[in-house]
Amino acid sequence: MEESDPEFRYFVFAVLHEVAHVDLDHKSQMFDGITSEKNTDQEIEANAQALKWYNMYVTEQENPDLPKLKIEEIKRVREKNQAERIERYEPQQEEIV
Ligand SMILES: [Zn+2]
Repeated sequence: MEESDPEFRYFVFAVLHEVAHVDLDHKSQMFDGITSEKNTDQEIEANAQALKWYNMYVTEQENPDLPKLKIEEIKRVREKNQAERIERYEPQQEEIV
């Protein structure tokens, strides 16, 4: 699979997003009792960090076929995946944005 493939970019972003939660020492709504507002702030922060890491890599590659990643692309792929999942009557994935 090409690293410029939207599904692959989405997968890498999702992994980086989870690593960002750990790196930024984020707390859990369920286990640490943070508010949903704080949780949303953490999600936005993890997205920003994941995009930053991904785009640092893109900058290093100097590959014209590998554009920088924006949150709009992530939302597009996620909506497409969710629509396909609903068609197949499978449960939705966890929200990451
Ligand atoms: Zn998250």
